[in-house]
Amino acid sequence: MLIDRIMFWVVIAISIQFLLRVGLIAYVTIAQDYVLTDANYEQSLIATSLYFSISVFSVILAVTACIAFGMDAISDMKKIAHSDVLSGLLNRRGFEIEARQIIATAQENNLPATMIVADLDNFKTVNDSHGHIIGDTVIQEFGNLLNSSLRSGDISGRMGGEEFCILLHTADIHLGRLLAESIRTKTESMVFGAGKNTFSLTASFGVAELSKNENYNTLFIRADEELYNAKNSGRNQVRPKRLNYILKSIM
Ligand code: GH3
Ligand code: MG
Ligand code: MG
Repeated sequence: MLIDRIMFWVVIAISIQFLLRVGLIAYVTIAQDYVLTDANYEQSLIATSLYFSISVFSVILAVTACIAFGMDAISDMKKIAHSDVLSGLLNRRGFEIEARQIIATAQENNLPATMIVADLDNFKTVNDSHGHIIGDTVIQEFGNLLNSSLRSGDISGRMGGEEFCILLHTADIHLGRLLAESIRTKTESMVFGAGKNTFSLTASFGVAELSKNENYNTLFIRADEELYNAKNSGRNQVRPKRLNYILKSIM
């Protein structure tokens, strides 16, 4: 951060002027054979430069420290405002802001990017049968699963309720589908609750690759339509071409 660099150089400048002052005292007292006493010290060039430099550097240090603390506080507030407390992922607003940046970079550099929208299936029945607290745990654990499935630079967010979104940079639809499929199977194998009340659940996914000149809204709409199709198909699943072929051949 710029302010950290400014702080660093202010502290360096303070240290240097301390060294210069030692040199100044040595020069005045040794080279110029000037004897410092209690009586002449206050009027000396050494005392004047000391008081002047202390007051100037104190003001500079205080101002930069205030700016640094203020900027840290703003950055913390931004992080809180853009994150979802329950899942630990970005919230809808935070996701949209970061997604727009990834999309702009992808468009500028002609790179692929792929969005995955995920929704837990029949989540209402989880709340109804096991209570909201267990429901919250499911949201948390699903959030952890999404977060741990990403590469550096990919983002994930909770868009509301039990709907989530991922944006993969430098990834085409095949990679997106593979990742969605991997998350889907991991979700199915997760066990929630305790004792006799354990249960599993499934999630549905919609995947869409960014097209030329497309923006965040249209990409999200297309991924959401894919999710809607997956839900309506009743299979709750993403099917990469190869997997589709395997499934067809064994059904
Ligand atoms: P579908 O398979 O079509 O997605 O059905 P669904 O039951 O998952 O979806 P629906 O939209 O009907 O219900 C979503 C439920 O999610 C309703 C609401 O009570 C619950 N929900 C939303 N936010 C939270 C939350 O923060 N915590 C918990 N425990 N439940 C939540
Ligand atoms: Mg749902
Ligand atoms: Mg939903």
